[in-house]
Amino acid sequence: MHPLLNRQIRRTLGELTDIPEAWRRLLGLVDAAYCEGDEDRRRLERMVELSSSELNRQNATLKHEIDERQQAETQLRESYKRLAVWVRRLESHNQQMALLNKLGDMLQACQHVAETHSILSQLLAQLFPGDAGSLALLGDPENFYEVVADWGDGVERKRQFHTDECWALRRGHAHQTLPGEGEASRCAHLLQAPPGGYLCVPLIAQGRMPGVLTLQQGNFETEDTDQEDHLGLLEARRQLVQMTSENIGLAIVNLRLRESLRKQSLRDPLTGLYNRRHMEDFIVRECRRAQRQQRSVSFMMADVDHFKHFNDQHGHQAGDALLAGLARALQQHMRGDDIACRYGGEEFIVILPGASLANVMQRAESLRRLVADDLRIVYDGEELPGVTLSIGVSTFPEHGLSGEQCIRAADDALYRAKLSGRDRVIQAE
Ligand code: GH3
Ligand code: MG
Ligand code: MG
Repeated sequence: MHPLLNRQIRRTLGELTDIPEAWRRLLGLVDAAYCEGDEDRRRLERMVELSSSELNRQNATLKHEIDERQQAETQLRESYKRLAVWVRRLESHNQQMALLNKLGDMLQACQHVAETHSILSQLLAQLFPGDAGSLALLGDPENFYEVVADWGDGVERKRQFHTDECWALRRGHAHQTLPGEGEASRCAHLLQAPPGGYLCVPLIAQGRMPGVLTLQQGNFETEDTDQEDHLGLLEARRQLVQMTSENIGLAIVNLRLRESLRKQSLRDPLTGLYNRRHMEDFIVRECRRAQRQQRSVSFMMADVDHFKHFNDQHGHQAGDALLAGLARALQQHMRGDDIACRYGGEEFIVILPGASLANVMQRAESLRRLVADDLRIVYDGEELPGVTLSIGVSTFPEHGLSGEQCIRAADDALYRAKLSGRDRVIQAE
């Protein structure tokens, strides 16, 4: 009840002298009080209603703000996490680039392809630590790829394989299988399908494929890698593999080129024997040494009999195959410090440091017999008919006081062998 009304009622009760009158006024006041009370209640209710709706509104605003703040916190946490992932990835990228640089530097400093093997083993294992991998290089002669570096466990792989046994080499570009992918697309140089899938990348440089890099997929992700990260990592890895294979390919092709240039200046390309220039240096050196050590050096000069006729009958290429086969037989027949050279078209010289005239006569005779009786050379799927050798033999210092004189003496002896019917050994006079 309103305080004003209350006061009025009290006053009225105090004035109760004329009771009927007072009673009537009291009733009137009570009525008014009731009416006022209702009004108050309604006002109060409206006020309560207004305050509670204001309270609700404020509550909703607060809740919204809290939600927003929580969301912002979650986003911040996510961002920190992503940032940490990126920092880690950047660090590992920097490390990979440093390793790749080191690999390139070291390969460039190599003199021979053989020197690269241990470097490749060590640095490839560091570049792809999560994978089991191998690197195979094209051998010399160029028939087979041979594994020269490997690391990690992975499935068993062949040490030597042919181009046909690798899908990447056959197709001339990378070949990848997915985890759990079956046998159908497995390269034959892997003896089973790696469970995590694998990647073969041919090394391509100057239009050649000097090797192939194989990576059996290990785990290169961390527990916080999500779908987007996964794709990013795959792409980064693809780029790393690509850069690595290009680097190695170029280095190997360059080294092979250098090796072959070196060889060309020393060796005859058809037979692989030393060439005439190198032989001349060698003869001078050996004769000087023999003089100092008071021992002998012997020479065989061998010439294929009727080789012109052979060429005419079977073609120049068959003739080439025969010369190459003969050179192989000659090399197998040599011992210790002996050295064989291609002196001219179908003429060969063997230098035998320390061999006496009797020794060299014996050796020459066994070479003649080997060629006449046992030499089998297959060309274009067919065995070529046999040939014979005429051989002139000389010894330093018996037949000359210099290497040059001795070679001339052996040549004279060879000429006499031809004159006296070919397929024979004649010693210098
Ligand atoms: P002789 O018994 O008197 O030595 O007779 P010949 O026919 O072997 O000797 P000649 O000197 O008349 O002929 C040598 C032949 O060797 C002629 C040449 O075409 C051939 N020749 C030289 N170099 C090569 C080569 O690199 N490849 C091939 N296929 N033939 C060669
Ligand atoms: Mg000849
Ligand atoms: Mg000749």
